[in-house]
Amino acid sequence: MLPKPSLQRSSPSIINTTTTTTVNAVASTTPRSQLHSPSPLSPGSLKLDSLISMDVRRRQTKMGQSVKTAAGEPPMKPQNHPPTASDALPLPLYLTNGLFFTMFFSVMYFLLTRWREKIRNSTPLHVVTLSESNEDAWDVEDEEDEKFIIEEDSRMGTSPATTLGCAVPVVPIVPAQPAKVSVTEKPAPIITPQSSEEDEQIVKSVVEGKTPSYSLESKLGDCKRAASIRREALQRITGKSLEGLPLEGFDYESILGQCCEMPVGYVQIPVGIVGPLFLNGTEYMVPMATTEGCLVASTNRGCKAIYASGGATGTLFKDGMTRAPVVRFETAKRAAELKFYLENPLNHETLSVVFNKSSRFGRLQGIQCAIAGKNLYIRFTCSTGDAMGMNMVSKGVQNVLDYLGNDFPDMDVIGISGNFCSDKKPAAVNWIEGRGKSVVCEAIIKEDIVTKVLKTNVAALVELNMLKNLTGSAIAGALGGFNAHASNIVSAVFLATGQDPAQNIESSHCITMMEAVNGGKDLHVSVTMPSIEVGTVGGGTQLASQSACLNLLGVKGASKESAGANARLLATIVAGSVLAGELSLMSAIAAGQLVKSHMKYNRSSKDVTKISS
Ligand code: ADP
Repeated sequence: MLPKPSLQRSSPSIINTTTTTTVNAVASTTPRSQLHSPSPLSPGSLKLDSLISMDVRRRQTKMGQSVKTAAGEPPMKPQNHPPTASDALPLPLYLTNGLFFTMFFSVMYFLLTRWREKIRNSTPLHVVTLSESNEDAWDVEDEEDEKFIIEEDSRMGTSPATTLGCAVPVVPIVPAQPAKVSVTEKPAPIITPQSSEEDEQIVKSVVEGKTPSYSLESKLGDCKRAASIRREALQRITGKSLEGLPLEGFDYESILGQCCEMPVGYVQIPVGIVGPLFLNGTEYMVPMATTEGCLVASTNRGCKAIYASGGATGTLFKDGMTRAPVVRFETAKRAAELKFYLENPLNHETLSVVFNKSSRFGRLQGIQCAIAGKNLYIRFTCSTGDAMGMNMVSKGVQNVLDYLGNDFPDMDVIGISGNFCSDKKPAAVNWIEGRGKSVVCEAIIKEDIVTKVLKTNVAALVELNMLKNLTGSAIAGALGGFNAHASNIVSAVFLATGQDPAQNIESSHCITMMEAVNGGKDLHVSVTMPSIEVGTVGGGTQLASQSACLNLLGVKGASKESAGANARLLATIVAGSVLAGELSLMSAIAAGQLVKSHMKYNRSSKDVTKISS
């Protein structure tokens, strides 16, 4: 039997000593197996067991001490209390405790005050880095991160007072405001030495505002020198470097008075090539200027499918640029009278003569009027040869307005453009009536090409087209947007060939149709684009790079055979390229490859957080 330790009779410190001593005595005389035997000791057996092991450790320490002494070291002072765990600490226990408590409360105090300051100053508790914010539609891998951020937000939303158990006022977290740029703060000047003292003086004069920047070309008579001086003045004024924006290697004379005012350099856009696009029996290699990875590769795959299926057919069914001035009368009746006059076929010849007198190529085709009370919107349509034709049509319209002043002296011309044209804005009038070139392009893609090249099947494509390009776009309230990505191809070809990029808006109007043919085996695909606005003369088409791209397509400049043939062919090529682009993207979506291919071609492994501003 084990003697019961007398707990009641001893003070707390004596309790431990007594208990341990008693147990020690027992442990030294009792075999281990007996001590571990659960039966007679339960429930105190566990306590006893742990005490025994503590005692074993202590005895080992004592043994260690005696070994040291034996080795000749000074004998340790005899301890007048049994050793405790705190004996291992370098400082006495009360000092160690004091030190730790002080450190703990100082850190807590610091963190809490910092946290409260952040809330008061509306400083975000978590600053999102560039890499975190650089998520795009294809960023499926980052979904987990998003979930994490949401979780983090919800944590931040819980009351600090509840979570931390302290009375910190809960201040609503407002989004961080962009840092205010001090107006008085002057950026450090960036000064590049000029080639001559004269140029240095001109730069200083521009910086000081004595010489207007826009006048440099006319004053110097040297466009490159003017661009260089303007660029230097700009760097000094803003304190921002233009390094990376090239100045050399561009013909600044070629843009003077035509393409761009006050140049300081030029932006480089890579040009990729797709093809051959087999269209109307001819092969075309189509240049596309883009920075969107995957676009060129995808369109090229569409070209391959078209080529392998025997090619595409493009038909241009309308060609006319429009301009619609707005004029106002005293009464709606007078506005209606002018409408009747302009739309009367008997007056067409007279009006054509007036309209056509300012150009060899601009030929009036028709006039369509819309009334809004006392105001009349007159939409003139004319052929423009190989020019896109905005200047040409505007000149013709001005001729007619001047002429109408004789018979309608009460007509007030409010503006040469009243937006019924409608230029560079999405508008149903272009979608329904057409503007520029109206083209339909089609191809029959064979069943095995759909499978082997496009990696999908006819039924899947037809269904996807119906639910996405037709129904989905209808649900979205689309205006001419019944396609997958016509504007991608239109914009890239426009940039490469010197078209007005802003006109991609109406030029990208497109309805893509897909239908199973030949007993449901093959795919009939078509794109109908009513308002492709392109030219091969004028504007940016005459610049060296753009001109080279037009040359590649065989449509550079004015057509020698028939006026307008080059521009019409270019519009047909645009539609053919869109057909290829639609085929490929739709197939990728039908096959579920879209995200994978974008991750491969459209995502750089470069760490964007390392790119400093
Ligand atoms: P836009 O009307 O597209 O703005 P511009 O008026 O700038 O074009 O350029 C058209 C100019 O090119 C006109 O001066 C026109 O006389 C000339 N031109 C030369 N050949 C042709 C052609 N085949 N088709 C159209 N314009 C041509």
